[in-house]
Amino acid sequence: MSRKIAFIGLGAMGQPMAANILRKGTELVVFDTNPARMEPLRDLGATLAASVAEAAEGAQIVITMLPATPHVEQVILGEGGVADVIAPGGIVMDMSTIAPTGTDRIAAACAARGLVFIDAPVGRLVIHAQRGESLFMVGGENDQAFEAVRPLLDKMGTTIHRCGPTGSGIRTKLVNNFMILSIAQITAEGLTLAAKLGLDIAMLKEVNAGTSGTNGQFQFNFATKVLAGDTTPGFTIDLAHKDLTLALEAANAVRIGLPAGAAAHAVLGQARAGDYAGKDFTALLDYAADLAGV
Ligand code: NAD
Repeated sequence: MSRKIAFIGLGAMGQPMAANILRKGTELVVFDTNPARMEPLRDLGATLAASVAEAAEGAQIVITMLPATPHVEQVILGEGGVADVIAPGGIVMDMSTIAPTGTDRIAAACAARGLVFIDAPVGRLVIHAQRGESLFMVGGENDQAFEAVRPLLDKMGTTIHRCGPTGSGIRTKLVNNFMILSIAQITAEGLTLAAKLGLDIAMLKEVNAGTSGTNGQFQFNFATKVLAGDTTPGFTIDLAHKDLTLALEAANAVRIGLPAGAAAHAVLGQARAGDYAGKDFTALLDYAADLAGV
């Protein structure tokens, strides 16, 4: 292998993203703490590592796709982590959705060790990751490093936005997810009201599509998941709650209140505390219907 590339974190998103890189002809060393997540990639030619250190040792590029800030800090900066074993000049690209303050800390620690850090969180859903149709929000001004990762991004997705300096990718992602999830909660409530009023949902969808009220949550996410009876978890309520928490923390840090988003956050928190944590975020409709007794 002329160039070693490692991919760490092979969950609902990471596994199909890594699979697309492999299918499109680039070798990867992969690692996940859950060995079952690595197995399907063996058949696509991946080398399976036994630890973060084994995956990252000697790599020129390490990609992380992990649940939340503590996991990313541990994997990159922890003892025996990526930063301990990757040589200066190496590129660390975190694609997880984490706290921007965490991104800033990790980026600074990487820079202090001569590593280039890129934040490249992922837009769209699991289904898009499976089809190689993800969208990426890239932070980082190092053009050479961007050109080094671009062929990998091209294999995983269709759309790349360079958002600005390091940390601007994750900030863009949080603002966008704040809007998505707040609208998802309003959509769940609107559809519950419609059901209670005895309206035909297919008719409402058509009306909604022809007005300025049209929204991707109703027209695509809810339509293809909860309204189609597909309850397979993609983006879970647990992760959605995490993203809204991060957005509200970011707002708090710049001293602004976001009252409508805070209300959506509270509902997601209640759903998560019930038995909705592991469900797809479009199950917010089921939760709203439960509350309304529909
Ligand atoms: P997931 O929980 O399905 O996957 C995370 C994976 O990381 C798991 O396989 C887990 O075993 C592994 N992991 C945890 N700790 C580890 C460690 N120390 N070392 C190696 N592996 C470890 O999560 P996901 O849905 O794939 O999401 C990943 C990130 O992408 C999250 O930050 C999420 O918010 C974001 N995201 C998710 C979606 C979505 O639709 N699911 C979309 C865009 C962005």
